[in-house]
Amino acid sequence: MIKKRYVLNFPPQSGDKPLSYQLVKEYDIRINILKAEVYPGKRGSLLLELQGTKENIEKGVHYLIRHHVICEPLDKRIHFQEEKCIDCGNCTAVCFPGALTMNKTTWKLEFDKNKCVVCELCIPACPLKLFQIDFS
Ligand code: SF4
Ligand code: SF4
Repeated sequence: MIKKRYVLNFPPQSGDKPLSYQLVKEYDIRINILKAEVYPGKRGSLLLELQGTKENIEKGVHYLIRHHVICEPLDKRIHFQEEKCIDCGNCTAVCFPGALTMNKTTWKLEFDKNKCVVCELCIPACPLKLFQIDFS
């Protein structure tokens, strides 16, 4: 069993519920919704954590793509200019899930993208504007 986070973008007028139901029923995938921005008649976006076997998650993702849902791993939606980071630690103070932490030995910033919940608080917190997140 693995856990993997994905950003889903639904086309207008598509409901996500039957698709989520299929993921659970057909592919035995557990779904944890971490963020949702869904507006009637407009494009909707979800951050999901999928838990299941690697094979079933891959099949489930292909199922979504076949149903016109844009489905990408979360780390592909986070753009961080790591090479410019000065390790000031400002972003760690706002990152409540602990995706951004300071290594207590090297005092370098560490970023575990698999813990990110796309709250986007690190974007204004970084004085060098090193974060960009493509969610919607
Ligand atoms: S968006 Fe930034 S602050 Fe929010 S959880 Fe992700 S890394 Fe942490
Ligand atoms: S706030 Fe910006 S410069 Fe400071 S540690 Fe975080 S990413 Fe690096």
